[in-house]
Amino acid sequence: MSQSKLTRRDREHLISIFLLKGHEEPVGPSKLANKMNVSRAGALKKMRRLEKYGVGEYIPGEGLTVNGEGVAIIEDEILNHHAVENFFQKSLGMDFEDACKEAEILGSKMSKKMIDQINIYYGKKKEARCGLDLEPPFEPEDIEECPWCKRLFD
Ligand SMILES: [Zn+2]
Repeated sequence: MSQSKLTRRDREHLISIFLLKGHEEPVGPSKLANKMNVSRAGALKKMRRLEKYGVGEYIPGEGLTVNGEGVAIIEDEILNHHAVENFFQKSLGMDFEDACKEAEILGSKMSKKMIDQINIYYGKKKEARCGLDLEPPFEPEDIEECPWCKRLFD
């Protein structure tokens, strides 16, 4: 599947577009550029790339809308992050801040098998310290307070 070629940076941009409500209406490149602190040209290039990988549609003059496939990837990213964060806290006794930061670095590199294993082991005992209810669908407002999502825009 082509979407597996999305880089971590691509996924971060995808989540940002979602936070700007790109699952409901097109988000223009200037808006994304502002939020991600990149150039407008860079944001546009990223949007074209996301479209090429089938996670949204780009309408010239309007912007990118995230499609169902894109939303599914975003949900996966959010769930995976919090699964890995939980794992670091519960198995290694890391505090929340460190677990969140390590999960950000390692989460996207872990295999699906590893994440499935964490979910089997900690499934029912999982909770997000940011207060997110780990049951999709998510709305942009739900994840706005998550420190990991906030850091995307640092
Ligand atoms: Zn969180």
